[in-house]
Amino acid sequence: MSLFSQQEYLRYSRHIQLAQFGAAGQMRLKQARVLIVGCGGLGAPVALYLAGAGVGHISLLDADQVSITNLHRQIGFSESDIGRNKAQALAKRLRALNSDVDIQAITAMLCNENAQALIEDKQLIIDCSDRFEVRCLINQHCLASKTSWIYASAAQYSGQLALFVPGGPCYRCLFPEAPQNAMDCNAAGVLGTVPGILGTLQADQSLHYLAGQHQTASHVTMVETAPLQVQQLAIARRPDCNACGATSPHRHSTAKIQSELPMCNASTALASEFNPQLELTQEQLRAHREREPVFMLDVRSEEEHSAFNLGGLNIPLHQIGGKLDQVKQQASASIVVCYCQSGARSLDAAIALRAAGVEALSLAGGIQQLLESQH
Ligand SMILES: [Zn+2]
Repeated sequence: MSLFSQQEYLRYSRHIQLAQFGAAGQMRLKQARVLIVGCGGLGAPVALYLAGAGVGHISLLDADQVSITNLHRQIGFSESDIGRNKAQALAKRLRALNSDVDIQAITAMLCNENAQALIEDKQLIIDCSDRFEVRCLINQHCLASKTSWIYASAAQYSGQLALFVPGGPCYRCLFPEAPQNAMDCNAAGVLGTVPGILGTLQADQSLHYLAGQHQTASHVTMVETAPLQVQQLAIARRPDCNACGATSPHRHSTAKIQSELPMCNASTALASEFNPQLELTQEQLRAHREREPVFMLDVRSEEEHSAFNLGGLNIPLHQIGGKLDQVKQQASASIVVCYCQSGARSLDAAIALRAAGVEALSLAGGIQQLLESQH
């Protein structure tokens, strides 16, 4: 009897031939269960490589929608995915890549309420969230359930990654407090390849770990790309660590998770902070309309527009770049209010229009919030 089917043997033959990997390593991948937290710039290469490699069970977690500002680095998506949930869009891509892999898409953020259930039955958690609070939550639950996890972050031209295993130093040994100079891609910008490099390193280290190969778990690897430089620094376990230290009140306990860690609702609110320079509320829209003419611009698809709309012109987000003159002409001197389902696409549209010299704002919360507030 063979361990693998003919198709599996062919598909994974380059792994099976590989010294110190072989059929045993491939079988471990097939049986593995992993959770990928975040499906963006880091999560895409991680998920694509793990699915391609035949990791048997992959759960993808992300509450965000794909936006045009993601496409320069989040290689799991195409322009046609704009507006779709990231976990669902990436799951579709992975199923097309490898139909043997069991893919689960979870359209939520990791939070106190769901973390334990999502983490405890996995062999490895891969943090692609790029948020300190989420990493603290993963760290706490992985300590409690003795689960290994791989952290990575990327911003501008640099990034870092580290593997944490039970008994070794933990994330809070490395970062007792939130890093002072922590930057995320939204605030500081990022070269498209940087999360790709860090995500690929995460995928690489995940495959080594899942296949049972030796891992160095007490280092953080720092990568710079301008100029190119890779460095490893040792991490020591800190006896006074507030997560894994002997005196920590939170040690190995999920019942006493620190209050700083995200609750489900708080995380959602954080993700969509209101920007008064670029957005307006429903009330502000009403007030504007009473004072002066407002030019409404629906940036959803034609299908969504025909199902329900707030009036005005319909130009899908991905076509706006080519129709700036049309918008300028039709809006004349009126302020342009862009709207979509959730306020994400319309925010991108408002940014693009402003860059072209059009006075534009995005309706915060989109049609969804407007309709929900009326029920
Ligand atoms: Zn620690």
